[in-house]
Amino acid sequence: MEQILNKTIERIKHNDYCIGCGLCKSLCPVFAITMNFSYEKGQYLPFVNSSKCTKCGICLAVCPGDEINHPLLHQLVHQCQPEDPYTGSYLKICTAHSTNKDYREQGASGGFVTQLLANLLESKAVDAVLVCGMASDKIYEPEGYLIRDANELYKYQRSVYTNVFWAKPFREIQAERLRIAVVGLPCQLHGLMKAINLKPELREYFRFTIGLFCGGSYNFQAVDKTLSDMNIPVSEVKRIDFRWGEWPGKMRILKKDGREILTKRGAHFRTNYLPRCFFCFDFLADLADVSVGDNWIEGAEKGENIVVFRKQKIFPYLENIECNDIDVGDLYESHYLRSYRHRFTSINRKISNFFHSKAPNIIPYEGIKTTWKHKLYALLEYHQFHMQDASETHTKLFLKLKDIYFHFVMKNESKKRDK
Ligand SMILES: Cc1cc2nc3c(=O)[nH]c(=O)nc-3n(C[C@H](O)[C@H](O)[C@H](O)COP(=O)(O)OP(=O)(O)OC[C@H]3O[C@@H](n4cnc5c(N)ncnc54)[C@H](O)[C@@H]3O)c2cc1C
Ligand code: SF4
Ligand code: SF4
Ligand code: SF4
Repeated sequence: MEQILNKTIERIKHNDYCIGCGLCKSLCPVFAITMNFSYEKGQYLPFVNSSKCTKCGICLAVCPGDEINHPLLHQLVHQCQPEDPYTGSYLKICTAHSTNKDYREQGASGGFVTQLLANLLESKAVDAVLVCGMASDKIYEPEGYLIRDANELYKYQRSVYTNVFWAKPFREIQAERLRIAVVGLPCQLHGLMKAINLKPELREYFRFTIGLFCGGSYNFQAVDKTLSDMNIPVSEVKRIDFRWGEWPGKMRILKKDGREILTKRGAHFRTNYLPRCFFCFDFLADLADVSVGDNWIEGAEKGENIVVFRKQKIFPYLENIECNDIDVGDLYESHYLRSYRHRFTSINRKISNFFHSKAPNIIPYEGIKTTWKHKLYALLEYHQFHMQDASETHTKLFLKLKDIYFHFVMKNESKKRDK
């Protein structure tokens, strides 16, 4: 039992840092891992069959819930260290949107991701794309899907703010030797790059990587508690969409009787993050060929992306996309980059090791600066990540105070331009 805990992803599960990606299951050479949805934890979890497991350690070596050596992975992907440790290497930054009205309106932001995927498929640069979406008959179990026909892509637009069994199609990709464009959160791409570092032959399949900016993801208890506050039994729900309607969108609860309810993603979505998010260093998906997020620049049009182009190979596939160059300072301001909690990895690790369990060993780039303001903010974050059982009054009061601190201390600091 001791060996299984130390040599396999059982340790990650034990420490609660699993993001439910399923990479371990898809790469285990002896098919010893199954993925099941845990209703207690509100997320997918892997289970190791100890009688099949050979303790080869592959699952642990690729797991994004374990060590992430950012300088090493950045070197692997970009063959250099980033000049700016807050952005990763890039060629240019733009605001952008798809000029296809449907993609833009149905997109989480400006439909850039889906338009780029359509362009890659239609020009036959790839055989299929890996996107994610809800299994049609289950409200809780989002999975990775391989799409080969651009006409199907609209079904997988918008953001799924929860853990996804993302690597489900990996065996199919290898068996059919498919050339793939993959859309992934930063942590999902960390797993993929660890896997490519371990098995360089995988690089042949994953031709394009499109990363999403990520401020955090939740377990399904956030949804459960929201439904419970609204007195909606889960059994009456047909589908959950996390962003629906006019940008930036609300959460949509589609009931089996056809009624639609739109609601804000409230306090439960601020206290039910995946524990791994507390240590996450990589907000802008630095390991992708191109990274994509919302445009929060003051006065921006509704339904716009910010896009960080990191590799030349994306440029030939920008048909039907309108791009306008912006300054890196605009990105800093739009996303309060200098104040973002993902930049506090080292402090967060120390706090966690002091109070709680062993934190994953996440190694940031050189050159990240922190002050007492960040340290205090990190302590507030720590509390936020551990208040799932706090009373409603405590939660609301705490979040209000934290927002005030952010507004008056962190936000101002973030607006100081030095780039
Ligand atoms: C959990 C999460 C947190 C995010 N946090 C931020 C943030 O803090 N700030 C910010 O600016 N942007 C954030 N984003 C990115 C933003 O929400 C949009 O996804 C991005 O701007 C792309 O918009 P689009 O209109 O181009 O994409 P669309 O055309 O709508 O396509 C979205 C694509 O993303 C894929 N996708 C959706 N959810 C997931 C998921 N969980 N895992 C893997 N793939 C997925 C879909 O399959 C689809 O291919 C986040 C996204 C997610 C999923
Ligand atoms: S994070 Fe992914 S690779 Fe790691 S244990 Fe969880 S499912 Fe497996
Ligand atoms: S240690 Fe090897 S055999 Fe065992 S579960 Fe992990 S990948 Fe599979
Ligand atoms: S914050 Fe980091 S760990 Fe959490 S979902 Fe986003 S990329 Fe993954």
